[in-house]
Amino acid sequence: MATTGRITTATHCPYCALQCGMNIVVEDERIEVEARPFGAHQGGLCQKGWTAAELLRHPERLTQPLLRARKDGGLQPVTWEDAVDFIASRIRELQRQYGRDAIGVFGGGGLTNEKAYLLGKFARVALKTSQIDYNGRFCMSSAAAASIAAFGIDRGLPFPLADIAQSQCVLLVGSNLAETMPPVMQYFQAQRANGGSLIVVDPRLTPTAAAATLHLQITPGTDSALANGLLHIAVRERLIDAVYIEQRTSRFDAVKRAVARYWPARVERITGIPEKQLELAARLLGMSASAMVLTARGPEQQSKGVENVAAFINLALALGLCGKPYSGHGCLTGQGNGQGGREHGQKADQLPGYRKIENPEHRRAIAQIWGIEESELPGAGKPAYEMLDSIGQERGIRGLLVFGSNPVVSAPRAAHIEERLRRLDLLVVSDFFLSETAALADAVLPSTQWAEEEGTLTNLEGRVILRRRALPPAAGARSDLEILAALATRFGANFQSDARAVFAELRRASSGGAADYAGITYERIKKEQGVFWPCPSEDHPGMPRLFTNRFATADGRALFQPVEYRHAAEEPDAEFPLYLTTGRLAAHYQSGTQTRRVEKLKNTAPEALVEIHPATARSHGIAENDEVLLETRRGSATAKARLTTSIRIDTIFVPFHFAARGRANLLTNPVTDPVSKMPEFKVCAAKISKQNPGPERAASFGASAA
Ligand code: SF4
Repeated sequence: MATTGRITTATHCPYCALQCGMNIVVEDERIEVEARPFGAHQGGLCQKGWTAAELLRHPERLTQPLLRARKDGGLQPVTWEDAVDFIASRIRELQRQYGRDAIGVFGGGGLTNEKAYLLGKFARVALKTSQIDYNGRFCMSSAAAASIAAFGIDRGLPFPLADIAQSQCVLLVGSNLAETMPPVMQYFQAQRANGGSLIVVDPRLTPTAAAATLHLQITPGTDSALANGLLHIAVRERLIDAVYIEQRTSRFDAVKRAVARYWPARVERITGIPEKQLELAARLLGMSASAMVLTARGPEQQSKGVENVAAFINLALALGLCGKPYSGHGCLTGQGNGQGGREHGQKADQLPGYRKIENPEHRRAIAQIWGIEESELPGAGKPAYEMLDSIGQERGIRGLLVFGSNPVVSAPRAAHIEERLRRLDLLVVSDFFLSETAALADAVLPSTQWAEEEGTLTNLEGRVILRRRALPPAAGARSDLEILAALATRFGANFQSDARAVFAELRRASSGGAADYAGITYERIKKEQGVFWPCPSEDHPGMPRLFTNRFATADGRALFQPVEYRHAAEEPDAEFPLYLTTGRLAAHYQSGTQTRRVEKLKNTAPEALVEIHPATARSHGIAENDEVLLETRRGSATAKARLTTSIRIDTIFVPFHFAARGRANLLTNPVTDPVSKMPEFKVCAAKISKQNPGPERAASFGASAA
C-alpha cells in the first residue's frame, strides 16, 4: 500500500463499547493512531486503542480463503469462488439431509449494525434456519431482560456518559472501568472533584474500587441480597421517594414485602459486607440530590443475572432516580457494538429494531421489508450455549457459520464446546486471524478489519456512531457484508453488500420498533457527533435521555420486580473450597484473538494468571509466579500465581483472554439464567494446587493455540 501525503480519517477504536474517537493517520507505509475528542469525551485512548493499528498489517493476517478438504487434513488456500461454492454446496447437502435448522449461525457483539442486521437476514431469508445467536448472549442478555421487564426498553445507559460527572453519588456494581475502559474514568474523576461519592461493589479491590469513596467487597454471587439489603435500609430510614413511587411505578408493595426480610445483619452474613458499610452506602445513595446505580458483568454473568439486575433497578426506582437529572439506573455494555449488536436481529428470538420474532405484528413488518411471506420467517432458535451444546445431539446443528466470535476461548465449559465443534460436519469461520475457533474450521474466510470498511456501531450510551474507512482492505480480504451477499446469492437471495445500502434498509426495518433508527443517516452522524436512538425521523433530534416523562411500558410506568436471593448454582464445598470469578485485564480484549497479537500488549500481559490472596496461597504452598493447577467440576487449567491482598481470601480471579491450558473457560459453569440464558461466568467452586510442570506442559503453559 502506498499513499502520497498524509491522510487523516476520523474514526473510532475497534475494541470496547466506549468507542473512543480516534484518527487514523496514513503516511507512506506508516499507519498511526491519534486520540480524537468525540461527544463529551475530551479524547484519550487506553493502551489497546493506541496499539490498534498494529493489527492492520500484521504478518499473521489472513489474506486468502482456506479449505480443509478432509477432516484429518490441513487448511489449504483456495480462491474465493471455490470457498463460497464449497460452503454453499455443503450447507445445501446438510439441509437436504437433516432439515433447514441443521445449519446454525453464530455472530458477535463486535460486528457493526449493518453486519448484525445482514447476518440475521441471511440466516432467516437465505438459509431459512431459525438457529442464529451470538456471543452477546454471554455478555449483555441479563441486563437486556431486566431492563425490558422494568422499563419496557433496553438501552444500556438511558443517559449520556457525561451525566456521571454531575451525579452526587454513583453505585457501580461489578465493573472495573479503570482497567477495562480507562478513558471513561474522566467522568468519575470529575464526579469526585465535584464533591460526589463513588461506591464500588466488587470481590476485588480493583483500581476502580481503590478510587472509590466506599468499596463493598462482596462475596461472589450475592448481589441480589446486597441490593435487597440496601433497599431494606432505605425503606427503614425513609430514604425512598414515595411520591415518585406512587406517580411513576407499579408493584412496589410486593418488593417492599420481599426486602423486609433482608435486615442488615442477615445481609452481612450472606454478602460478607459489614452492616456499617451497608448503612453508609444506603445513606450516601438515598440522601444525595442525584444518584446513579450502574450494573455490569459482575451481577449479570450469573445463573440469576436477570434477578440481580432487577434487584438493583428496584433500588434505583424506590429512590426515585430513573428519569431524573444526573440520576437513574444503567447497564454498562462491554463489547464494541454490544448495544447495536443486540438490536437488529442476530439474537435467536429477535428481529431488527428490537422486534420480537414470536410477535405476529413484528413478523409481518419485517417480512414485508424482506419481501417474503410472514409464514416463511422461521421462529425463535436456541440461545448461544444451547445451540453450541446441541452439536452431535439429535436435531442439533450439523453445520455452523461463525462471524466475529471465538467460542473455543469465550464459551463456558470450553473443552466441551471445543469437542462439540470438532464434531460438526461443517464449520465456517470468518475472521482476520486464525483464531482458536478458525483453526478448527473446514472453511476460513479472511475478513476486512475495522479501518478498512465503513459501518455504524451503537456505543454504551445508545449513541449511533460511524466508523469510516481509512485505508483499502488488505489484499485478498473481503468484508462480512460481501461474504454474506456472495453466499446469499447461492441460495437465490439478492442482498446488498454496501454498508450504506444495508444501513438504509436497516433504517426502514427498524422504523416503528423499540430501537428506531429511521431518522439516522451517515451524514447526520458525522455532523452531530453521533445520534442517540430512538430517532424515528430525520427531523427528530434523537433522545440522549430516556424516561424523563414516561417509561416505555404500555402504561408508561416502571414495573418493580420482587427478587429473592438464591445461591449460585455451585457454591464452594469441601472438595472445591474457593470461589472462582473471571474477568478482564487492562491489556487485553475479549478472547484475545487481536490483543494477544499486539507486541506491547502481549509483553504487558503475556500469559494466564490467577490472583490469589497471600494467606490462601500460603495454605496451599503457592508462591508468586508459581504455576498453579486450577480445577473445577468442568475441568482444569493452568496459570501463573499472582499474590495480592486485593482479593477476598475465599476467592480467586482468572482473566479470560488466554488460550490453550490458560483458558479460564475450561473451568466456568455453563448453567444459564432461566430467562436470559446467560451462563454463570462469574461464580463457581474451584480448588488450586501448586503444579510442577513437565517440559511438555511448560511449553503449552498459557500459550496461544493459534
Ligand atoms: Fe478502545 Fe475501549 Fe480503550 Fe477506548 S477504552 S481506546 S474504545 S479499548
